[in-house]
Amino acid sequence: MTDTGELRDLESRYTMPTYLRAGVEFVRGEGTRLWDSQGKEYLDFFAGLSVHNAGHCHPRIVAAITEQAARFNGSSNLFLSEPALRLAERISGSSLGGKVFLTNSGAEASECAIKLARKHAHARGVQTPRVVSLDGGFHGRTIGALAATPKLADEGRFGPLPQGFDPVSRDDADALRAAVTQETAAVMIEPIQGEAGIFPIADEVLVAAREACDATGALLVFDEVQTGMGRTGSLWAFEQLPVKPDLMTAAKALGGGLPVGAVVTTPGLADTFEPGDHGSTFAGGPVGASAALAALDVIGDDELLANVGERGAQLLEGLEAIDGIVDIRGRGLMIGMTLADSLDARAVRDRCLEAGLVLNCPASGMLRLLPPLIARGEDVDEGLRILSRCIAHG
Ligand code: PLP
Repeated sequence: MTDTGELRDLESRYTMPTYLRAGVEFVRGEGTRLWDSQGKEYLDFFAGLSVHNAGHCHPRIVAAITEQAARFNGSSNLFLSEPALRLAERISGSSLGGKVFLTNSGAEASECAIKLARKHAHARGVQTPRVVSLDGGFHGRTIGALAATPKLADEGRFGPLPQGFDPVSRDDADALRAAVTQETAAVMIEPIQGEAGIFPIADEVLVAAREACDATGALLVFDEVQTGMGRTGSLWAFEQLPVKPDLMTAAKALGGGLPVGAVVTTPGLADTFEPGDHGSTFAGGPVGASAALAALDVIGDDELLANVGERGAQLLEGLEAIDGIVDIRGRGLMIGMTLADSLDARAVRDRCLEAGLVLNCPASGMLRLLPPLIARGEDVDEGLRILSRCIAHG
């Protein structure tokens, strides 16, 4: 067992100080539970930031990874590979029905979607394609994805950023309509904004985006990196929304714990990219693809998806009864809340961790719950008990 003090020392001496880490090292996971290096057990309502949707170390995913890893670890995208091709078939068939590009992360999926949308715009004669994105949206931290992430696109620190990105308010359908012009290549939307603190985008804004895209030829891109893979009670969040996108990105839980992302198109956009237009060394590797196929098997199950709706409703009802929570938002098991001004959300999060409940504070005054989708009624009751106690002691 390594001392956490020694880990802190390694962290401060050898890693770039980009993360504000808690002083806990998790060393084992099973289902909704985690154990730290001191043997203490936790209930996980964070799921590695919506990565372990199937629960920690799901036996089917573990078996798929170990079997593939022991047999063959891949030999580049210059050769055929059954797991990647079966995965593309599954993603396409379950979503937009076009073609898939596999990536290693959500940010790479955003980059790929922006690049494809720009190419599509050039093909219809647009000289300088633009991308409209929403305030509060988060699409990743690479330079292109950052440009589409208004809150973090800090020209002063990271500029010059790529040009042609137009942020609009997330709840103003008219502003969005006005921002989409003949020059717009894409409108990028997270149907429920996760990093902002769980803010569902109103149907009227989604409909305005769809209509504006249809009128101009711009592509509607849904970033389902956080909302996808069953998180909201359907495999993809768009299934419950009034409009369908032209492109969808996915990552996080897609790889069942391994780094797998994807971009999928509608059939009409399937051949926008041609040989040489895009690529990746690792993406689509057989171990990650096998893990993703197993994750889709587990999460695509109707009973599990129904459980998301039931546990989500149970969680909402319990949260509504807790004093100190002033706003609750979300769908399925993707729930955000704002605490009363008198409460310090970071302190509540820290008290929960101390009490054995892992949750997240995405922004000042807010908490976010992303439990594994296999959570049972008892898990939800236990999480609510701990959270309520830790808020009351604020
Ligand atoms: N898009 C959304 C909606 C996200 O929540 C995230 C990460 O939190 C990303 C994109 C970036 O994904 P990654 O961290 O895998 O690059």
